[in-house]
Amino acid sequence: MAEQLHHWIGGKRVEGTSGRFGDVFNPATGEVIGKLPYASKADMDEAVKVAQEAAEIWGKTAVPKRAAVLFKFRELLVANTDKLAELVGREHGKTIADAKGEISRGIDVTEFACGIPHLIKGEFNSNIGGEIDLFSIREPIGVVGGITPFNFPVMIPLWMGAPAIACGNAYINKCSERDPAAPMFLAELWKEAGLPDGVWNVVHGDKEAVDSLLHHEDVPAISFVGSTGVGEYVYQTGCANNKRVQAFCGAKNHMVIMPDADMDQAVDALIGAGYGSAGERCMAISVAVPVGQGTADALIEKLTPRVEALKIGPFDDPGADINPLITAQAQQRVENLITRGVEEGADLLVDGRGARMQGYENGYFVGSTLFNNVTTDMDIYKTEIFGPVLSVMTPSTYEDAVTMVNDHEYGNGVAVFTRDGDTARHFANSVDIGMVGVNVPIPVPMAFHNFGGAKRSKFGDTQMHGPESIRFFTKMKTISARWPSGIKEGAQLAFPTND
Ligand code: NAD
Repeated sequence: MAEQLHHWIGGKRVEGTSGRFGDVFNPATGEVIGKLPYASKADMDEAVKVAQEAAEIWGKTAVPKRAAVLFKFRELLVANTDKLAELVGREHGKTIADAKGEISRGIDVTEFACGIPHLIKGEFNSNIGGEIDLFSIREPIGVVGGITPFNFPVMIPLWMGAPAIACGNAYINKCSERDPAAPMFLAELWKEAGLPDGVWNVVHGDKEAVDSLLHHEDVPAISFVGSTGVGEYVYQTGCANNKRVQAFCGAKNHMVIMPDADMDQAVDALIGAGYGSAGERCMAISVAVPVGQGTADALIEKLTPRVEALKIGPFDDPGADINPLITAQAQQRVENLITRGVEEGADLLVDGRGARMQGYENGYFVGSTLFNNVTTDMDIYKTEIFGPVLSVMTPSTYEDAVTMVNDHEYGNGVAVFTRDGDTARHFANSVDIGMVGVNVPIPVPMAFHNFGGAKRSKFGDTQMHGPESIRFFTKMKTISARWPSGIKEGAQLAFPTND
């Protein structure tokens, strides 16, 4: 029985007025489990109005009081981790252990945002001239739109929302229409933590809802995470409407394996980073790059049986390695790309097409898949597959591996596996990629550092979480102050100097 779902505006569930709805599925069974309202422009306008009123008060709330709400919210996230993981698993399909991993990363950024009294501190100079004191302060910007993807329904809304709220803004999360339950539950937890109504809002929908945010003159900032095509559109449209925009987008992440690497460690890393969450991660490794044929042969020999052994299964099966993909369309798309790889001449060593599981015959499963001898001209190399598909490519030299990494249009993450410090250092300094791992396959920075890719994996010049998030979610004001005792000369018509 499909549950009727709602928006969350002004601290309560709201039905919406558009009359348009979309289905939410359980990807393991293919059942429709929710009917989600899609916001019209009028629904979004109402949310912005409510958020703006809330931001007026919240932005003037003493910073330690805002931090106190974040501390309480952090405690609620910890206490409700099991429930959140269940909500994520049912709609996204990822395993409970994997869902708990993303919740933990969301908690990390919430903890970072608890430090807002320190993070938001301004700058001060005493007596820059003529007894004038000069200081800069960071103020909230108002209503912030956060457009988030399906693959991390807890983590990404929090990566944006916790710093945005800590900075004194109100936040409208246009979360993914595929898995809305977790962001809605986060809204309940914020309320329980004491956040004033209207500061955290969740508005569902598709392009109409996103466009309403992008064109709304009372939304000065947009943070986006999702695919590159949509992100580029969001960036260009938001900027054309005079907003500050950051857009974190698609990826094709390489893992370069040098001949001196520990091959067992490299294989473990590829299994986790290539197939965890069925490859539906922006930081998934989708290309393994052993340098030289000898390295490739050793890798393939150890990797192939490990890939063959991975098991598909629903989110609540503790033995499952590979979860179902998010939709039937995603399953079809990934299977078509595997077929395309065969047509293009890549060697299909493990074929995940047609994977079925008893009791879950209508689930959107694709089994673990491994290609060898992939080349840079193939569609399966150029495209972000976003499924449990790993390609192996073998350049003969280290220099060719670096060129391959740099020539790809995406630049989110990359890793090098080696025992040689010189190689690792040279590699980190040579690649045009936002996040680099040295013997670390998924180099997602911790909350107190910044997250973001390069090239067509990111539009805009700021990063997510870390100190850059505080800059993105505030505006700077600079105040020059002189008290009457300092005014000695009377009116001055020439341009002021610091004499
Ligand atoms: P998506 O681009 O389909 O959707 C992202 C958001 O945009 C959703 O809220 C969706 O409703 C909205 N949207 C979709 N089509 C739209 C349109 N035509 N106009 C306006 N809005 C639209 O992405 P997804 O499938 O939910 O997520 C997977 C993608 O996100 C992958 O490409 C992945 O690499 C990327 N991603 C990137 C990062 C990162 O930090 N770089 C992190 C997670 C996911």
